[in-house]
Amino acid sequence: MKRDLRSLNLNELEEEIVALDEKKFRAIQIFDWMHNKLIDDFSQMSNVPNSLIDKLSESFMIYPVKKEKMQESQIDGTRKYLFRLHDDEYVESVFMRYSHGNSVCVSSQVGCRMGCKFCASTIGGLVRNLTAGEILAEVYEIIKDTKERVSNVVIMGTGEPFDNYENVVKFIRLLSDEKGLNISGRNITVSTCGIVPKIRQFAKENLSATLAISLHATNDETRRQIMPVALSYSIEEIIDACAYFFDKTKRRLTFEYSLIAGVNDSDKNAEELSKLLRNLNCHVNLIPVNPVTETAFKSPSKEAALSFKNKLEKNHINVTIRREMGRDIDGACGQLRRRIKNL
Ligand code: SAH
Repeated sequence: MKRDLRSLNLNELEEEIVALDEKKFRAIQIFDWMHNKLIDDFSQMSNVPNSLIDKLSESFMIYPVKKEKMQESQIDGTRKYLFRLHDDEYVESVFMRYSHGNSVCVSSQVGCRMGCKFCASTIGGLVRNLTAGEILAEVYEIIKDTKERVSNVVIMGTGEPFDNYENVVKFIRLLSDEKGLNISGRNITVSTCGIVPKIRQFAKENLSATLAISLHATNDETRRQIMPVALSYSIEEIIDACAYFFDKTKRRLTFEYSLIAGVNDSDKNAEELSKLLRNLNCHVNLIPVNPVTETAFKSPSKEAALSFKNKLEKNHINVTIRREMGRDIDGACGQLRRRIKNL
């Protein structure tokens, strides 16, 4: 299998090109075509000699990420894209317009092996990791399709980013590269179900990205029932790793908490959650659980969600109820899923 050229950073690209006995500056040209002009076809790289393209193509290709379908929400204009990959696998990505700018939500894997009980993305398990270049191309293709600027990127689509750690870190570095889209780390959020050693490793990467933790429970017993990853890491270990992350990066953390009626939305849960987070610089995002056909979880009423929020606020926890985008096109949190041909 040829390697994905779009996944190389500029240094790596230079090394490859020099190894082919070509001039180093060719790397900057090719990097610019891929990451600035968003071109994924060698034949369009008009200032690059064919002889170099021929040599490069012996070991590399630019992994294609092709728009197969786009659905637009009638409620809020959110767009969900279905992309086809080189091996006929599919991933979904979402484009959202907010007052503070446009945001893209990317998938990091084809499928997911985390098994969270309320999430559609994990049904069918993990197929494969995406390369850094494929994750980038989700953003690039959306920019080309919408002809709009993208100011924020969240790694909150299908997949567990920290289960594809190296590629995701590379993706973040390439996305914030000043010779590429130059999207500041501050405007990139990575969300994890809580893989503790990777949270600690991520704290040391020297990236300014925001870290979001999918907590969804206030005690280990409940968490284990809805998130198998909780069998490996306790909430206490997660909170400790988060404190370490803040210490290293000084970046405020986000906690995602899907409110599920009768499972994690009681007054007691609100008190427990406040207690867990009281010493952390963080923000809580409450997400009334979105419907997934295969599951029976119900979201609490609007009033119950508001009352949960008020309880946290009384305890001085920074909290918002997430404005759900794209529910009518199954584009909201936990609704992205693996598609197969002809769907
Ligand atoms: N695997 C990563 C990235 C996914 S982000 C993670 O777990 O953080 C998607 C977010 O939506 C996660 O917080 C996930 O737990 C949440 N989610 C999954 N299914 C959901 C549903 N049905 N309703 C609301 N949120 C859901």
